[in-house]
Amino acid sequence: MVVYNLLCKKKHSFEGWFPSFEDFQKQADKKLISCPTCGTTKVEKVPHACAVHVKKEQPAPPAKKPEQTPAVPPTAAEFKEMLLKVHHYVKENFEDVGPRFAEEAREIHKGAAEERPIHGTATREEAKDLAEEGVPFVALPKPDLDS
Ligand SMILES: [Zn+2]
Repeated sequence: MVVYNLLCKKKHSFEGWFPSFEDFQKQADKKLISCPTCGTTKVEKVPHACAVHVKKEQPAPPAKKPEQTPAVPPTAAEFKEMLLKVHHYVKENFEDVGPRFAEEAREIHKGAAEERPIHGTATREEAKDLAEEGVPFVALPKPDLDS
């Protein structure tokens, strides 16, 4: 189906619907198309003044990934500073249970001891046991204060 804007010789414009351009042509030749206003069969097709270009749906361009700054590993000095800060924070806010850390952490985990942030030391073996028991803890590397 095509729609044409038609114009009669008296400048009445109207729309004509045709199955195809050929049908329009045939009807026009046989003077079957008449102006609905004045009835004249002298009508002509008005070239479309504007054409709507329907663009094919284009896939949205992939969202541009934010520029990824390459992860710069901290320098030894920066790392040490970070560690010191963490250790300082821990010292300030966590109860120092020293070598009883594993025991205390386990007690807290079980609810047998008051829940509080603690810090202390644990042997490799103790840390492994805690991990296996599902006791949450974080092993902090000790800042090398001598270097
Ligand atoms: Zn007319």
